[in-house]
Amino acid sequence: MQRETEITALTDVMAKFTSYIGKRLPNDVKDKLAELRTFETNPLAKTIYMSMADNQDAADKLDRPSCQDTGVIQYFIKAGARFPLLGELEDILRNATLGATQMGPLRHNAVETFDEKNTGTNTGSKIPWLDWEIVPDDDSALIDVYMAGGGCTLPGKATVLMPGEGYEGVTDFVFDVITSRGVNACPPLLVGIGVSTSVETAARLSKRAILREVGSHNPNENAAKMEQLLEEGLNEIGIGPQGLTGKNSVMGVNIESSARHPSTIGVAVSTGCWAHRRGKIRINADLSYEIISHKGAVL
Ligand code: SF4
Repeated sequence: MQRETEITALTDVMAKFTSYIGKRLPNDVKDKLAELRTFETNPLAKTIYMSMADNQDAADKLDRPSCQDTGVIQYFIKAGARFPLLGELEDILRNATLGATQMGPLRHNAVETFDEKNTGTNTGSKIPWLDWEIVPDDDSALIDVYMAGGGCTLPGKATVLMPGEGYEGVTDFVFDVITSRGVNACPPLLVGIGVSTSVETAARLSKRAILREVGSHNPNENAAKMEQLLEEGLNEIGIGPQGLTGKNSVMGVNIESSARHPSTIGVAVSTGCWAHRRGKIRINADLSYEIISHKGAVL
């Protein structure tokens, strides 16, 4: 393939995939919502879970976005250093966002800060947002697409705790965030927690945490235990679907961490809503692709 042809082909795939995930939830989220619906005993909560499932079916059949807020488009890229279109990927993803905005259609959600003007294209300064990791000795690219909706982004918070506050301080922080603003994010929530040195490293990890599958566990035994305890504790509050009370508050709690400065505990929370629209796709060096998040998806 000529380079221009390759660029056009990959732009088309990413535009279609970005549009696709706005209409269909990933398998892990869909499965978890079905499980929560099955175990729910509160009649109102059960009805809400059923209307969520009906909404998803209708979006799929009618080929329309499943929530009016299709968010700000964010791409989290793990690119091999030898991926053939590495240098072109930024432009490709920007054009893919333009394409998906037409194709979806996606609501226009990019407002230029300080100009206070909607660009009307879902693109703008540093938007779509790109988060990069370069993988040595690899020639593929693994791309997570995320629609950062307003409500589900609103509870996000980061702080740096005194070291003596320990894991109890992390727990207090998470509960404060979820009980004060979690209801804005259309529960049941996927709660992402980053624990690191500073606000920005913790925040980035907390967003990475909600890109991890529902039901997956941190490989560190202690972190996995904390995920489980926080999930149980948050569920005991019984926020329920859409915040109208019920058996559960969350779809899960995912923690990502890094080594940190001994004198600080940076902690951040990001939340995903019940319509947690994200997708994972692997692009191979020959530009063939594999959709990981949505089994059987056809673009
Ligand atoms: S929180 Fe999620 S489901 Fe609720 S309006 Fe925002 S994007 Fe839609």
